[in-house]
Amino acid sequence: MEQKRIALVAHDARKRALIDWIGANIAPLAGHAFWATGTTGRLVAESHPRLDVTMLKSGPLGGDQQIGAMIAEGRLDLLVFFVDPMTSQPHDVDVKALTRLATLYNVPMACNEATADLLVASPLFTGGYTPQPTDFQSYEGRRI
Ligand code: PGA
Repeated sequence: MEQKRIALVAHDARKRALIDWIGANIAPLAGHAFWATGTTGRLVAESHPRLDVTMLKSGPLGGDQQIGAMIAEGRLDLLVFFVDPMTSQPHDVDVKALTRLATLYNVPMACNEATADLLVASPLFTGGYTPQPTDFQSYEGRRI
C-alpha cells in the first residue's frame, strides 16, 4: 500500500462527526500519515491513538494556512475538512484560501461524510492513484 499524506480539519460543530467517521473507516485509514489543525488533531489522537497524527496550529491561529502551504508545496495527497455550514467562522478567509488551493492543485477534498466515504471506498484510494498535476507553465511564463 502506498502511504498517503492526509490532512484532517473539522469546525467545532463537526469534530465529533469527523472522529466518528474516522472510527467507521479505521481499516482503510490506518497506516497513512496524518496532519491536522491543533484542536482537531488533539481530539482525533485521543480517540484514535493508533493513527500517526502531526499537529499543526489551531485553524484560527494559522493551521488552515499551514495545510494550504503543504498543498502549494506538493506535500499533501488528500484533505478531509468537515465544514460547519451553519456557523460563521472568524477565520473564514483562511478556509476560503485553503479551498482555493485544494482546487487549484487538484487535491481531493471531502467536506462531508458522503464525499469522504466515497473517497476512501474508491479503488483509486488503495490503487496508487496520482492525480494529474495542474499545468502552470503558461501562467508562470506570462509576460505582462
Ligand atoms: P481546530 O481548527 O482544529 O484547531 O479547531 C479547525 C478550524 O480550522 O476551524
